[in-house]
Amino acid sequence: MEEDNRRGIAICGSTGSIGTQALEVIEANPDRFRVEVLTAGGNADLLIEQSKKFKPNAVVIADESKYTQVKDELWPLDIKTYCRAEALEQVVQMSGVDIVLTAMVGFAGLKPTLKAIEAGKQIALANKETLVVAGELVTKAAAEKGVNIYPVDSEHSAIFQCLAGEFHNPIEKIYLTASGGPFRGKRREDLLGATKAQALKHPNWDMGAKITIDSASMMNKGLEVIEAKWLFNLKPEQIDVIVHPQSIIHSIVQFTDGSMKAQMGLPDMKLPIQYALGYPDRLSSDFPRFNFIDYPSLTFEQPDMETFGNLALAFEAMKTGGNMPCILNASNEIAVDAFLKDQIKFLDIHLINAKTMERCTQLSHPTLVEYLDTDSEARALAREIIDTI
Ligand code: NDP
Repeated sequence: MEEDNRRGIAICGSTGSIGTQALEVIEANPDRFRVEVLTAGGNADLLIEQSKKFKPNAVVIADESKYTQVKDELWPLDIKTYCRAEALEQVVQMSGVDIVLTAMVGFAGLKPTLKAIEAGKQIALANKETLVVAGELVTKAAAEKGVNIYPVDSEHSAIFQCLAGEFHNPIEKIYLTASGGPFRGKRREDLLGATKAQALKHPNWDMGAKITIDSASMMNKGLEVIEAKWLFNLKPEQIDVIVHPQSIIHSIVQFTDGSMKAQMGLPDMKLPIQYALGYPDRLSSDFPRFNFIDYPSLTFEQPDMETFGNLALAFEAMKTGGNMPCILNASNEIAVDAFLKDQIKFLDIHLINAKTMERCTQLSHPTLVEYLDTDSEARALAREIIDTI
């Protein structure tokens, strides 16, 4: 029998924005990748449709109430079907999986990522919350197991691409670029009545709801700052953010000789996804190409940390370290959810995060259990604060 050298991919969160784009990449490269596992939160219809097309070995639907529907549709195809979060932690360890793409949203990504690392699987990391919450634990586990964490976030992929051939050269500084989101240039007073529809209208990227709100509040850039610290082993003072509204330069590395390398291209998440799955090869693609004449000027601005206080909170959390980024992440997940349910105003997200950071129990070197406890405590505190608003 002919050997199958294709990489077996597990996509955690296949029904989301990153997950569906990853499947497009895989479909365009059938000689390089095969789909081994697909997982979804609650979108059973799309998970079934994807499974019929890509014929994975196993699928997980986290929402137990959808299990029978998925199982009934997929058992004739000989696809193993599971439900609940615990199953997610098991399927990432299956023998046919080479790379786990973590494309689920939020804290739910932490445990499956740790389980995948434990089993020695390579990680293509979109779920930035995993590194924000427990970067020290995750990067240590990966180093011990000889597991690489390939960034999918476009900014971190840009840094990673700039570092190709430079891994022995020290980094002086990195600049993470930020589009500024839909509220770029606004002052706090302009945002008092900011609506959900306005916040969900990102100028350059089409993404899931949580990350789109995080982009509007600049929390997304804050989470990326913390993610970068762990991915590239940087000190807080080596990380800077620069607003670049066109989203053409995806990020920049400055080396100790003063030279700067930037990675650029049209905003399209398929490129960083493909780079992470295909590393170290660059696979040819028909993604639209950048044309200089369409962009006669690329511009840059300082981020406004007063209006977008979440970015300042993230820098503060990174500098404090310990479980502080975990506290901030948990609070932010609760606050964004409340904003999406019209329970709070846009500027309340920052207020809730700041108060939760003040009140939650602080730990300097948490264990996994302590991270889980911190997450629960911070969520409960954030909910209490919301009740008083
Ligand atoms: P989406 O909201 O579009 O998709 C999230 C995915 O996670 C869906 O498949 C969803 O399933 C699944 N999911 C949600 N909750 C759970 C849960 N509790 N257990 C298991 N699965 C769950 O998000 P995005 O694709 O936009 O983002 C995914 C991650 O990638 C985030 O961490 C984000 O920060 C990061 N990222 C995203 C970028 C983008 O361009 N979208 C860019 C860079 C990073 P279902 O829909 O079936 O409920």
